[in-house]
Amino acid sequence: MALIVQKYGGTSVGSPERIKKVARKVKSFREQGDDVVVVVSAMSGETNRLLDLARFIHPQARGRELDVILATGEQVTIGLLALALEKVGCPARSYTGAQVPIQTDSAFNKARILSIGEERIRQDLSKGRIVVVAGFQGVDGQGNITTLGRGGSDTTAVALAAALKADECQIYTDVDGVYTTDPRVVNDARRLDRISFEEMLEMASLGSKVLQIRSVEFAGKYNVPLRVLSSFEEGPGTLITVEDEIMEQALISGIAFSRDEAQLTMTGVPDHPGVAYKIIGAVSDLNIEVDMIVQNVGSDGTTDFSFTVHRNDYQSALEALQHAAAELGAREIYGNPRIAKISLVGVGMRSHAGIASKMFEILGSEGINILMISTSEIKISVILDEKYLELAVRALHEAFELAKPPAGVTNSVAC
Ligand code: ADP
Ligand code: ASP
Ligand code: MG
Repeated sequence: MALIVQKYGGTSVGSPERIKKVARKVKSFREQGDDVVVVVSAMSGETNRLLDLARFIHPQARGRELDVILATGEQVTIGLLALALEKVGCPARSYTGAQVPIQTDSAFNKARILSIGEERIRQDLSKGRIVVVAGFQGVDGQGNITTLGRGGSDTTAVALAAALKADECQIYTDVDGVYTTDPRVVNDARRLDRISFEEMLEMASLGSKVLQIRSVEFAGKYNVPLRVLSSFEEGPGTLITVEDEIMEQALISGIAFSRDEAQLTMTGVPDHPGVAYKIIGAVSDLNIEVDMIVQNVGSDGTTDFSFTVHRNDYQSALEALQHAAAELGAREIYGNPRIAKISLVGVGMRSHAGIASKMFEILGSEGINILMISTSEIKISVILDEKYLELAVRALHEAFELAKPPAGVTNSVAC
């Protein structure tokens, strides 16, 4: 008998029929003798609807009251799933984040989980009940409702699996695993049998939203066996695990991309110590995260300074930069909110040179201009005009032959 934490995403609970289907699936695990804790998201589109509603009332809606609103989506689905389970003969109990309790800090809209109370869950399990927990939400030390950031139900599931020392955390979604790239963009993207925590963390951080970044961090830190599977069809899915257990020694595991980027550039900046701090400091003071940074020294002794931010922060960053430019006596500022980032990810890159040059060659041969570049041991990222995104992802996927399993490995290995 195993203890399994299962998470069903928005599409998987997107209609009453689908909720009934989830109940039957959960029941089949119960019938095998497993204890099951289920985490659910809001019905697909619901969190966006709630966000729009809040912004209609107040265009800058954020903080405590926004979380009160957003958390309602998951409260509906836990109740519906618990009812559906009762209906198919499985005793069940639903819990909001505060009822569990899932204790978080007070960073509304992006709270971090601090601890999880296991007692009520354990009691229910011992009575043979299925426990249904609302994803994406928690409660802070003052009893305020908090939410964990978009896609946060993944993190709820992994954190619960870690706290309960579950045998596996299963993330059921609308694709049957983690692919070499988003299968909605590249038709022949290949499902990976396994991927390391480290690579999955890079993929998630660089734009593959199949798992929320923090869920992968948690799983790596607490060594939670994590699997991504389809809600709609049977199959082994993708196991996210430690590097030693990966049998595919691919050079590149996947291509991640993000459309959420914007670029800002300040030119003719006097080349003095402390200038970078003045520019980036002005942006960070607004709590805006800066991603890639590039500085070039020109022949006239001034520098050009470029960096990227999330597209939602573009306007605020631009305003902060205008003040900094006036103070520094910079020549001009310009920005581009229509850029995208593409990243090649793979632990195999550590031991191979020449991947960056091949990437640049492929993009060049497609006539795609690279605006910025950044590299680390296991990834290479480039910024380009958003209109080339799909073309670039497909060209790279093909040129690096990611549709083919690495030599000596078939797609049915392990699991
Ligand atoms: P859920 O609502 O179940 O949490 P998400 O929409 O958050 O589902 O995540 C699943 C989606 O992630 C897929 O529909 C797919 O388009 C997207 N995706 C992006 N990159 C990848 C990838 N490398 N592998 C699989 N899916 C990916
Ligand atoms: N419902 C939340 C969202 O749409 C959390 C989640 O689905 O994981 O972001
Ligand atoms: Mg998700």
